[in-house]
Amino acid sequence: MSAIKEIIDLVQNLASRMKDRQDMEIIHKIMGLASSVQSAQFEIQEKYLKVLEDNFDLKQQLSKMIAQQEQANAEDFHTDAGLEFRRGKSTGNTWKAFCPICHVICRQVGGHYICSNSKCPMYPIKIDDANAVIKTL
Ligand SMILES: [Zn+2]
Repeated sequence: MSAIKEIIDLVQNLASRMKDRQDMEIIHKIMGLASSVQSAQFEIQEKYLKVLEDNFDLKQQLSKMIAQQEQANAEDFHTDAGLEFRRGKSTGNTWKAFCPICHVICRQVGGHYICSNSKCPMYPIKIDDANAVIKTL
């Protein structure tokens, strides 16, 4: 922006030394064009500031939405009897047993809990205490 102001100042300086009428018309035309460029530049700066403000507002909204999402997905967590117990959105807000190794939900077979992941080292191990733990939670 200061370059345009400097151009205008130089042209005004040059115009003050001109004596030929045709040169003056050209100088005035250059000054008019420089003034138009300056106005356009102000307009662009105003739009840029608006974009910065919008960007700031959107970042704040995004942060708020992320915090809300994290709160909505938050789970209560407890470990006992060799298992993890979680309660939250993913468990229908009831306590469920999870494998402490692979963190997959455990399957209830009769009175036992077994990891649902057949590739997990905990897979064949039956855990009997899970229901008793869940009752205390
Ligand atoms: Zn497992």
